[in-house]
Amino acid sequence: MSTTTTLAGGCLCGALRYNLAFPKASPPDCMHCYCGVCKKSTGAYFETYVPTTHAQLHWTTNRRSQLRIPPPGSPSITLIVGSLDDVDAVKVGSHLFYENIARVAKEVDRDLPKYHGEFEFIQEPKA
Ligand SMILES: [Zn+2]
Repeated sequence: MSTTTTLAGGCLCGALRYNLAFPKASPPDCMHCYCGVCKKSTGAYFETYVPTTHAQLHWTTNRRSQLRIPPPGSPSITLIVGSLDDVDAVKVGSHLFYENIARVAKEVDRDLPKYHGEFEFIQEPKA
């Protein structure tokens, strides 16, 4: 029985694909990061990423040269969690630069109207 789990992922257009392997006993611990670089680079209130290593990351396409990743030998690299095919396969374990969290991200109103799909988004919420 394998002691390793593999998660697949890739970019939006599908040109870059990877498999992320890790021990079943210790799945990746994702992080929400509120630093200025993450906000600006994603255009979002925060970025959620999966820290990994070159040993765990296996490219299944040969176009990786288009990515800006640390060279082999670097201690770690990060993958944006949204690049995983199954984002629910990992859990968030910590917040980084929490002192920089935007008020709206800190005070997410769980009672806000919820819609299914983007087309309902432009409709008035049902009372
Ligand atoms: Zn950051």
